[in-house]
Amino acid sequence: MLKSFYPDAFCESAYAIDYAALYRSGVRGLIFDIDNTLVPHGAPADQRAKELFRKLREMGFHTCLLSNNRRPRVESFAIGVGAENYVWKSGKPKPSACRKAMAAMGTSPGSTVFIGDQLFTDICCANWARVRSILVPQIDKKEEIQIVLKRRLEKIVLYFWRRAERRENGAENS
Ligand SMILES: [Mg+2]
Repeated sequence: MLKSFYPDAFCESAYAIDYAALYRSGVRGLIFDIDNTLVPHGAPADQRAKELFRKLREMGFHTCLLSNNRRPRVESFAIGVGAENYVWKSGKPKPSACRKAMAAMGTSPGSTVFIGDQLFTDICCANWARVRSILVPQIDKKEEIQIVLKRRLEKIVLYFWRRAERRENGAENS
């Protein structure tokens, strides 16, 4: 079903999300994809990412990096940003990946949000685990061919999602 791929919200960047508002609404656990969500694919933890995780720790969030990438990549990034928890070769979009992250953070679906750049892995994983999700555009627009093909399919899904959103908002306003 198309709805499995619909995010709950879209934000222009993982760095532009109003985390304070999420905290006020009861969110305590944040799951992050790494590649193309926080940094370009394969790039090390940069200043911006380190700063974000420092801020989130101060705010009182639990965090978990959830990646299908290999251990050395995920572990070195986690150490770089000082992430509390991380899961490599997570098996997204299987919902068990999300559940692993929540178990590590000690949060429930109702108090967790997943931030990621791919509909068919990150957002789908969140939806199947009943976790709210925020879609962000991929940082690096140049991607491998198999991802480029997925992006074309994502565009189609996003078209229907945006249309459904507009209808919902329209219905609220009238
Ligand atoms: Mg990604």
